[in-house]
Amino acid sequence: MTENQQTKMLELNRLLKQYAKEYYEQDQPSVTDAEYDRLYQELVTLEDAFPELTLADSITQVVGGQISSGFEKVHHETAMLSLGNAFSYEDLVAFEERIKKLVSGPIHYNCELKIDGLAISLKYQEGKFIQGATRGDGKIGENITENLKQVKDIPQVLPEPLTLEVRGECFMPKSSFVELNEEREAQGENIFANPRNAAAGSLRQLDTRVVAKRNLSSFIYAIATPEVLALTSQSDGLSKMSALGFHINPEAVVCASIDDVWAYIQKYQELRHDLPYEIDGIVIKVNEFTLQEAIGYTVKAPKWAIAYKFPAEEAQTKLLAIEWTV
Ligand code: NAD
Repeated sequence: MTENQQTKMLELNRLLKQYAKEYYEQDQPSVTDAEYDRLYQELVTLEDAFPELTLADSITQVVGGQISSGFEKVHHETAMLSLGNAFSYEDLVAFEERIKKLVSGPIHYNCELKIDGLAISLKYQEGKFIQGATRGDGKIGENITENLKQVKDIPQVLPEPLTLEVRGECFMPKSSFVELNEEREAQGENIFANPRNAAAGSLRQLDTRVVAKRNLSSFIYAIATPEVLALTSQSDGLSKMSALGFHINPEAVVCASIDDVWAYIQKYQELRHDLPYEIDGIVIKVNEFTLQEAIGYTVKAPKWAIAYKFPAEEAQTKLLAIEWTV
């Protein structure tokens, strides 16, 4: 351990917290996601090498940002977590090796597009939509029910009188983002850096009429209460949520090996620009719920899932977008 390393870790924490504040709370990132991810990985490597120097409130131990005071607070019964990251084929192999130390037998992976929006929780009581919230710091989010009622593909009533909670991503389609920025530019207003920030900024509006005009959309990807429906796997869950009327991303696929996962990643790395919404990677989830339970969680993320982040090109797009706003 040297003083230099300690200073470096303190500095990385300070910088990453500043960037997280700009990104999560102000919807105004000043660096690209790739740069943020690079600094974050540098800190993770140092913390792995010097665990005794890891700060209790290190950015690697907490989820998301602070809550905006404009909204009522919502306590999440089950924490809304982050995801660990992978940047290469080798990282995926290492992910599988970690899993195989915890469980035996064949493992299937549900691969999903990683939608670049913001996480939402939707609660239904006897089939009626009663509460919508942001992830916030994972334990406490913002009550944005009225704003989420303006998102047309979020069902207000389910076809069955179920009491359940689902989670997904709220996002702004690329076409709505371009239109919104054109409008803002014409009116001399600041434009949004990217669709993710535009979606986050829109959901924080206190006036629901503004939200209604923003053409937001959603993809639901998890049931926080799978016991309600006696579900056994993530792929089962997606089919059931689709049957209940939720908007489910159609590109999800179950893979039987990491090589198949890698082929899926390559495919969507090519196709991502043809999609009508932004994706920033692929989420790989162990499909069977019994295995997920056995594999478990860290303080910040499930150990049974990982987010593969697409490389560099995103950095250029976002940098350009940020330069336009200056
Ligand atoms: P994350 O974005 O890496 O992964 C977790 C999130 O993925 C979930 O909360 C959910 O919202 C989303 N997601 C999208 N599709 C999903 C799917 N199909 N299944 C499950 N989840 C899905 O983690 P995070 O903690 O939300 O954010 C960290 C990331 O945010 C960083 O890696 C960086 O890219 C970005 N960030 C950027 C800055 C910046 O200054 N540019 C600052 C902070 C964070």
